[in-house]
Amino acid sequence: MGWGVHDYPSPPEPDEAYCPVCDQVCETLYRNWEGEIVGCDQCIDTVDAYEWQAEHQTDQREFYREMMRDE
Ligand SMILES: [Zn+2]
Repeated sequence: MGWGVHDYPSPPEPDEAYCPVCDQVCETLYRNWEGEIVGCDQCIDTVDAYEWQAEHQTDQREFYREMMRDE
């Protein structure tokens, strides 16, 4: 007799979490200010904001240059 060892069933915890965006197994999900999931550590990449801005501004300049050319 005695207490014995009782194996309690482990709480329902999924082994793997899937990203709703890319369907890959992931650890972390990222959401925007609206609480909407935008991606996970598998499908989200970080970009240097200064580099992106520099590229974006260049694109915009090109865009406006094209518009000016048309008129
Ligand atoms: Zn993902």
